[in-house]
Amino acid sequence: MSDPLDLPIRKIVIVGGGTAGWMAAAPLAQRFAQAGRARPEIMLVESPDIGTIGVGEATLPPIRAYNTTLGLDGADFVKKTQGSFKLGIEFRDWGQVGNRFFHGFGDFGPAIEGRSPWQHWLRLQRTLPDLPSYEDWSMATAMARRNRFTPPEGGAPSAANAFSFAYHFDAGLYAAYLREYAMARGVQRVEGLIVDVELRPQDGFVAAVKLADGRRIDGDLFIDCSGFRALLIGGAMQSPYEDWSALLPCNSAQAVPSERVAPLTPYTTSTAKAAGWQWRIPLQHRTGNGHVYCSHFISDDEAASTLLAGLDGKALDTPRQLHFTTGRRKQSWVKNVVGIGLASGFLEPLESTSIQLIMDGVGRLIQFFPDRRFKPHLAAEFNRLMAQQYESTRDFIVLHYKVTERRDSELWRYCAAMPIPDTLAHQIELFRSTGRVAILDRDSFAEPSWVSLLMGLGLRPEAYDPFVDHVDEAALVQHFARVRQAIAQTAAAMPSHDDYIARHVKAPQA
Ligand code: FAD
Repeated sequence: MSDPLDLPIRKIVIVGGGTAGWMAAAPLAQRFAQAGRARPEIMLVESPDIGTIGVGEATLPPIRAYNTTLGLDGADFVKKTQGSFKLGIEFRDWGQVGNRFFHGFGDFGPAIEGRSPWQHWLRLQRTLPDLPSYEDWSMATAMARRNRFTPPEGGAPSAANAFSFAYHFDAGLYAAYLREYAMARGVQRVEGLIVDVELRPQDGFVAAVKLADGRRIDGDLFIDCSGFRALLIGGAMQSPYEDWSALLPCNSAQAVPSERVAPLTPYTTSTAKAAGWQWRIPLQHRTGNGHVYCSHFISDDEAASTLLAGLDGKALDTPRQLHFTTGRRKQSWVKNVVGIGLASGFLEPLESTSIQLIMDGVGRLIQFFPDRRFKPHLAAEFNRLMAQQYESTRDFIVLHYKVTERRDSELWRYCAAMPIPDTLAHQIELFRSTGRVAILDRDSFAEPSWVSLLMGLGLRPEAYDPFVDHVDEAALVQHFARVRQAIAQTAAAMPSHDDYIARHVKAPQA
């Protein structure tokens, strides 16, 4: 018998109401609001008894496209989430103690004669020992160094729009913001503790979840956003977890808010420590802080003391303990269950990639949205793309640990000696020997990000793209000087990050 042609999904059940759950609910509600007769019911189940992880406050620039697609107002969003702007991450003591560099959002300028400006810089610095750092050609870095912010201007390319930005926000307020959006578009929220999962006897698909109070919630498609518990994708569907702890040994974190201090920096700070690293995320009402560490090399109490000693404002609470295992589900989509967020994997928050992976997971689910036949090639393609993105993101994060001259603690000695994936070994060697960068996944970090990290951590290429030698050197020097000056002047003329926030996106008193 041939398959019936029209079997639309009638009901979507989202399990979990953390950042992942509501980030999945909002665009699905928006898409299906326009779907007419094929509009499925969307229900989200969450348990106040379990709560959410409550961290996850720094993002990457594509979050702006996510917000724009939802039709959210940028200013309203920042106000309602006590948000601030993020031009990148300042790294301190990574590579070696005393080292400082910036991973800015955006690039080092437009191509020159079809070649990346980075390659021209490599050529010039051979003959001009006083050539300023390549960082001077990053607009985001120039602004961050001066604590300046204003959004990029439209129009012709210029220093004033040669950068990108993301947000810092309060994770709880962000989930609440999306909840309001999704519920206004018909998503039903159910409070309850899931205690059992009912499978269809004929094919092992999930038929329903059962709540502690006896309620039964059935559905056609289940999106597992239950966090590290992975109730459906890990539990009912038994998708194995690939453990990446040998590559990313940090497995714990202590998080604490502190009083806001001036100035409000338009960037995240990441400071390497003996057994991990510490984040600092400036928000309008407080600063978010956390110490990510490997529990084999430091006790939880010592980790908490290190965190508190590294604050620049008064702690507003006692540190909260979190444990995790870095890795990913081998398959994020099995049968009629799609895992999104921590349920599908976790890479430690060094480059704020988790929310990005949530967004991309939701985007791909919409792209490959199934009907009730759940053709297996949809799941296979979704899983292929997610695996590629997870692995290339993993390589980028492992790079931070691997390229290091630090040998001053057990963690750093372990990282310097640890074997790394062939893909990352290739990336490092390609850069070291030729100055080029391999982009294995277009949805992950681009060339300027790899250059920022590889150079920032202290790696120096032995060669560069030979085509750049054809460009007239004197003209190139002038061009570089002009662009650098334009960047410095434009950044200096911008308002401070504090002023911009006070004038345009000030949040109500918390
Ligand atoms: P959770 O927030 O854990 O939500 C799980 C949901 O499932 C909850 O609503 C819970 O009630 C529900 N649930 C679970 N079990 C049941 C049950 N039995 N019945 C009913 N409901 C249930 N990401 C970034 O992008 N940037 C960052 O800066 C960043 N920093 C981080 C720092 C740390 C230390 C950690 C650990 C993570 C960080 N992340 C960051 C990741 C980010 O926090 C998560 O990706 C994000 O919060 C999504 O979490 P989630 O929604 O998948 O899970």
